[in-house]
Parts: sequence; C-alpha cells; structure tokens
Amino acid sequence: MQKLINTIKKKLAWRGFVLSRKERLDVIAAEVVVCKKCSLWKTRKNAVPGEGNADTQIMLTGEAPGYSEDVKGRPFVGTAGKFLENLLSEIGFSREDVFICNVLKCRPPGNREPQPKEIQTCTPYLDKQIKIIQPKFIVTLGNYSTVYIFSKANLPFNSITQAHGKFYEASILGLDVTIFPTFHPAAALYSAKYKEQLINDFQLLGRELTKRGLVSRSSS
Ligand code: URA
Ligand code: SF4
Repeated sequence: MQKLINTIKKKLAWRGFVLSRKERLDVIAAEVVVCKKCSLWKTRKNAVPGEGNADTQIMLTGEAPGYSEDVKGRPFVGTAGKFLENLLSEIGFSREDVFICNVLKCRPPGNREPQPKEIQTCTPYLDKQIKIIQPKFIVTLGNYSTVYIFSKANLPFNSITQAHGKFYEASILGLDVTIFPTFHPAAALYSAKYKEQLINDFQLLGRELTKRGLVSRSSS
C-alpha cells in the first residue's frame, strides 16, 4: 500500500499535476490508515487520521483517539466530542468548518497516556497536515497537544493551567499562526471547573475569530 502511494505521488509530480488540499490530506489519511511505524497499530481497530474542511483557517488538535474514535476511525465522536461540538456551535462553528485531528493517530490501549517515542514517530503526519492546511489558528486541546505545538513554536510551556485562554503569535513549520491552548474537552466531563474554563476560553476564541473576520462558511 505504502509503495503504491509513493508511486502515485511520484507519477503525479512527474506529470506536473497539482493536487488540491483535500486530495493531499486524503493521501496522508491513506498513509495513516495502513501505518505500522509504532506498535499502536497492533491494538487499534481503526487509525484516526483527522477530518474536516481542508480549506479552513482553523485547526483543532486533541491528544489521541479514545474508544469511540478507534471504533469509528473518526476524531472526537464520543462524549468529549459531543461537548466539543457544543463548544464550537456556541461560537457559530460546526465541525465541518474546521479541521479536527490528534497528536497520535491510533488509540493507546486502555486510553493510557501517549509515550514520547509514539509522539515522535507519529507527529510527522500532524506536521504534514499543518503544512497542507496552513491554518491561521491552531487550537490545542489539552496538555499533550499544547506541549507538542508549543515545542514546534519554540514557546516555553509550564502547564495548561497557565497557558490556556491566551493567544500566542508564533511561527511553526515556517508558517505564521496564532496558537490558542485550552483544556481537553474530556476534562470538562469530570470537572465543573474545567468545563467553565473551556466555555470561557471558547467565548474568547469566538470573539477573536470574529474580530479577525474568520466566520464559519455556513454563516458567511
Ligand atoms: N480525545 C482526543 O484527544 N481525541 C479524540 O479524538 C477523542 C478524544
Ligand atoms: Fe503510525 Fe501514528 Fe498509528 Fe503509530 S500511532 S501506528 S505512528 S499512525
């Protein structure tokens, strides 16, 4: 499969074909679903490459697929996902307006924490997605995603509690982006305090997006 993908890519480049963003993201997704670069492939039901609007200005990155995501092969489709959809809808966006993905593309068994080696092995996929989409905003959901994106941006990280709810103008992978860290939506399911902070952070995000003229396709 990987060989086939590489051959197709080479042939297309040779013929001077230009792929759309959507097509380039589909190529990455095709690579992810057959990836065996780290041992998580052994326990996954489905890899979860990420999905959404290829031409969006806004990317959201979570940590790793959970149970429901692994079953369906789609990001944020469980309880945390429902809450994320509500947060987006409160600021006038739907999941189809943005691109949603994760740092790790396969579920760690029993939802254990991602290991440094897995992050190192898997994040070239996330990097490629960022380079294709060229988002203006990256919303990092939770600790792992914020740590990774901050490291790419050479921003110091202490804790999500300190970092969340602020806009960081940064350069990552040669792109100028605004990074907006917030808590992981799953945190809201067990803590009322995190839930309130997530709601507040998304209100702040919504106001900033409006200020910058970034409204959802459905309402523009
Ligand atoms: N948690 C995540 O970090 N990502 C998902 O896709 C689902 C739950
Ligand atoms: Fe490949 Fe990433 Fe899945 Fe590991 S987690 S098998 S690197 S797609």
